[in-house]
Amino acid sequence: TVDFGIKQALHQLGVKDINDGTSTGSNHFSSGKILESYSPVDGHLIAKVKTTSKEDYQKVIETATTAFKTWRTMPAPQRGDIVRQFSDKLREKKEALGKLVSYEMGKSYQEGLGEVQEMIDICDFAVGLSRQLHGLTMHSERPGHRMYEQYHPLGIVGIISAFNFPVAVWSWNTALAWICGDVCVWKPSEKTPLCGIACQNIAAEVFAKNNLPEGISCLINGDYQVGEFMTQDSRIPLISATGSIRMGKIVAQEVAKRLGKSLLELGGNNAIIVTPDADIKMTVIGAVFGAVGTAGQRCTSTRRLIIHESIYDTVKTAIVDAYKQLRIGNPLDENNHVGPLIDTDAVKMYQNALAKVVEEGGHLVIEGGVLTGEGYESGCYVKPAIAEAKPDFEIVQHETFAPILYLLKYSGDVGNAIAIQNGVVQGLSSAIMTNNLREAEQFLSVNGSDCGIANVNIGTSGAEIGGAFGGEKETGGGRESGSDAWKVYMRRQTNTINYTTELPLAQGIKFDL
Ligand code: NAD
Repeated sequence: TVDFGIKQALHQLGVKDINDGTSTGSNHFSSGKILESYSPVDGHLIAKVKTTSKEDYQKVIETATTAFKTWRTMPAPQRGDIVRQFSDKLREKKEALGKLVSYEMGKSYQEGLGEVQEMIDICDFAVGLSRQLHGLTMHSERPGHRMYEQYHPLGIVGIISAFNFPVAVWSWNTALAWICGDVCVWKPSEKTPLCGIACQNIAAEVFAKNNLPEGISCLINGDYQVGEFMTQDSRIPLISATGSIRMGKIVAQEVAKRLGKSLLELGGNNAIIVTPDADIKMTVIGAVFGAVGTAGQRCTSTRRLIIHESIYDTVKTAIVDAYKQLRIGNPLDENNHVGPLIDTDAVKMYQNALAKVVEEGGHLVIEGGVLTGEGYESGCYVKPAIAEAKPDFEIVQHETFAPILYLLKYSGDVGNAIAIQNGVVQGLSSAIMTNNLREAEQFLSVNGSDCGIANVNIGTSGAEIGGAFGGEKETGGGRESGSDAWKVYMRRQTNTINYTTELPLAQGIKFDL
């Protein structure tokens, strides 16, 4: 098989491959059981990783706690400079890290590079923000008093991330948390542990060069049980968790039991509404990329197309034609559009969803299926499928993390389409394709989309780091990345200072002694 430069990339990132012994994470404390990382690209075992035991975890938290005492006293703009140095290193290692993301997770090399670019972008954003952690000043009702609010760091931020954005989601959290003065403990997905080790190595290099404790960034490895060490630990004031709704419901309850804060970024069931005034060419590009990009494994992937009956057949034909041109294969080969699913369990879920939609009365316009033979030995490659369905089918209400697109028909005005689009438990990303101002404004209005992201003449997939990212309802309500998302990583304090010789009480209360 062609190596596509993987060995060299691992070497550049300081990740030991299977021939060099066992990779460690967790700030060198790792004595737990062995986790094996297989590539969905070719099915090969890439490396073995030691997971974090309960005892290791205690040492990690002690390291983080000690590091916080130094880090929190460093002025925020100086912390920003550390983040700038980190982004310089990411620029240097962009190709190697992009390649590892592609090989370990299965997304295309271009998307792997895009993910590293997102890391660089959020760092740039954080560097500027490090001089803008503003609070407000208010007028006190008491004479000779000054009142203001300020933001202080929280302490340790626990990050639990999903396999599908194995490096970017961590950086959305860390870049902001670091400039805010927090230290981070990260548990990457057990399906992509090597991406975690690579990122930790890059961060550790920057901290060492600046004589800062490595504990500002900590890594722990393992499955949900290692995640539970953090969700149940009251020394961690904020848990930022990205993953399935199932996971989010458990994590939210665990963290709430100890009255901690959680920031949840969970599943989506994203739709594009296609109205009679849509530009069909743009619709096809947006819908096809949204449905098959990253093999349908983005939280913002397009799962439902809600098409007006008057243009239904035109849109269907155009999309089916586009699907016929898709090339499926090794994601490191830039000629391919669609790579593998993460593992064979995901393939089974894809097959079950296709069987279910037919069972519920749907019709497969593009049948899908699992690919076998040369180049597909990992058993993780599937054909993107399209099904005509009804909005209330159980399977359509559910997020299947695979390239399956449901075509739904609406009649009457755009309000009917909006009702279908909102008629699911998830609320992440949504879009409308229309050149009609009234339809577009209605979609964005209070009567419109109930999602955290609502786009006009853009698909549902992907986002820029400048905006706050996240979704409503069972998507979890959290916001990360741009705008004022930084505030969740800090605690707010209201301060009142009396510079007189009197002590007047608020609300005119008298208390004479
Ligand atoms: P998953 O829920 O299986 O796992 C996510 C992470 O949670 C993993 O690190 C896992 O080990 C951990 N985890 C699971 N149960 C836990 C528990 N009880 N306590 C602590 N940690 C626990 O998700 P996945 O298959 O890796 O990722 C796919 C899902 O993530 C999809 O639903 C997708 O939509 C969602 N996602 C959402 C966003 C977003 O920003 N909204 C971004 C990426 C992915």
